[in-house]
Amino acid sequence: MRHLASACEAIAGTSKKLHKIAIVADYLKSRTHREAEISAIFLSGRPFPVWEEATLQVGGSLLWRLLGELAEKKDDATLTAVYRRLGDLGAAAGEVLPEKDGQGLSVLEVDAAFRQIAGTRGASAKSALLRDLLRRATPLEAKYIVKIMTGDLRIGLKESLVEEAMAKAYGVTLKQVQRANMLLGDIGETLKLAAAGRLANAKMRLFHPLGFMLASPVESAGEGLSYFPAAAVEDKYDGIRAQAHVSEGEVKFFSRTRDEITESFPELPSALAGLPPDAILDGEIVAWEYPAELDQTQEIVDGPSTDAGESKAMNLGRARPFSALQQRLGRKKVSAKMLRETPVAYLAFDVLYAGGELLIDRPLEERAGILDELLAGNTGIYHRATESPRKSETAEGQGNLSFELETQAEEVKVASVIRAPAFRTSSPEQLEELFTAAQARGNEGLMIKDLTSPYTPGKRGKSWLKMKRELATLDVVVTAVEYGHGKRIGVLSDYTFGVWDGERLVNIGKAYSGLTDAEISEMTQWFLEHTTEDQGFHRLVEPKIVLQVAFNNMMQSDRHDSGFALRFPRIVRLRPDKSAEDADTIERVREIYASQPTDKKA
Ligand code: AMP
Repeated sequence: MRHLASACEAIAGTSKKLHKIAIVADYLKSRTHREAEISAIFLSGRPFPVWEEATLQVGGSLLWRLLGELAEKKDDATLTAVYRRLGDLGAAAGEVLPEKDGQGLSVLEVDAAFRQIAGTRGASAKSALLRDLLRRATPLEAKYIVKIMTGDLRIGLKESLVEEAMAKAYGVTLKQVQRANMLLGDIGETLKLAAAGRLANAKMRLFHPLGFMLASPVESAGEGLSYFPAAAVEDKYDGIRAQAHVSEGEVKFFSRTRDEITESFPELPSALAGLPPDAILDGEIVAWEYPAELDQTQEIVDGPSTDAGESKAMNLGRARPFSALQQRLGRKKVSAKMLRETPVAYLAFDVLYAGGELLIDRPLEERAGILDELLAGNTGIYHRATESPRKSETAEGQGNLSFELETQAEEVKVASVIRAPAFRTSSPEQLEELFTAAQARGNEGLMIKDLTSPYTPGKRGKSWLKMKRELATLDVVVTAVEYGHGKRIGVLSDYTFGVWDGERLVNIGKAYSGLTDAEISEMTQWFLEHTTEDQGFHRLVEPKIVLQVAFNNMMQSDRHDSGFALRFPRIVRLRPDKSAEDADTIERVREIYASQPTDKKA
């Protein structure tokens, strides 16, 4: 550990990337393979490989207490002053701990101690192990032991530089190292293969999460299609990214930080357990609103299909806001009530492994086809929560991936894996339409993906683009309402709204999407009770209800008495916190109109 700590000091002492790489390479070569393997993990700033679930569970306060106890000067004020000056506990340890005569520790001993600490429960037992470790360490070693423990190495070394150093040390190409590390998710394991000249043997391992492919932002539909000619376009769901590993009925979900999160979503594994033998999927876990009136075999068509190809799959339900999902995050135990009240769905949008083959190098077009096949049969059919237990023959019989999970004697819970609907387009106009539709469904915007691109774990490039334009919104007052169409036939779901022009409300638009079924039913009741003029289908209502509406742009128009109309208006939310007087004015409307780019002022 003495050599590693000295190398870290030297790395911290230079800002030159090549110099840092050279120091790491020399250090790795000077060690035994086993030591170099552990060191590679430590140098990437972690006590354990990324894929491992082991955590030290040692808090800052325990470290603080031990440093106070072991410090040369044992008064709290000295430690506080040193900590304030240096700003990190590791550096403070290096300064306050006494020098020793002994040999110090080897990296293998530090690794063994870390594993022992991780495997021990209870603060006092952990504290004893840690005390022993810090006692045996020299101050410089302790400095880096603590830095690794707190994940705060701060020597300007990223894992990518360790990869470069490894390539240099063992005379292999950076590409080979990166590929092996990507597949293994373990820089130590990668080093082992590099040192033995066996990098080509690196194989992806199920239940060891791969890195996630990331997206770059775009500002407009035009830009969204400027990097590649044909795109797969999906809604951008506001949930949490999750990689699903499936093997012989076992299913685990991993988060973007590659932590296992299966426990928080106990209803999801069985939805995937039926996948043919082994698979890795990429997708988003979303709080999901299942359409209440849908029975297990029915499909409903909600609104007109757009030319851009709105699919029936959309009618499986819709995503709820992230705030709904939040209650489900980080839980070890999920109550039956929570399963019932906040159901989730896994919106799968990619497949990385299936049929015994790693698919990441195949173009998205092919991966999408494989994913469609894997999940074929589950769209449009699922089981709704019911009060009585039901066996799942239908699910098996029809080969779909919906499932039922008995959470309580008299209850059946439901979850689904849904193939995230993907559209093909190469036209910015269609992309605009899809964007509007995605936002109207309550999603953040769109993901635009190059159909020819491979899946590049851990990389943010231009093959995946995200479009989530922030649009101006207006607070408006509902002046008139109408009954809806389709499944909204019996409810007042179409709202005409206005803004203030002096003392008068002038209409500016009409919207019928954005509220939940529960909100619409509540509003229907309110509007029925507060109708000022019943014109049959159309009702004028008391101008009390404030809505926040979003839109793509604004036009001058004589359709409404304000002289303006909103393009693609949609309700963001009800604003019960605002009274009608607080709504926006025609002056604000003129301001927004004036601030629009000229090409939008139709
Ligand atoms: P951001 O978090 O804004 O950088 O956007 C990227 C994130 O969007 C991803 O990491 C996913 O969690 C999420 N996301 C939602 N829908 C999709 C989708 N259809 N494809 C890829 N990522 C998605």
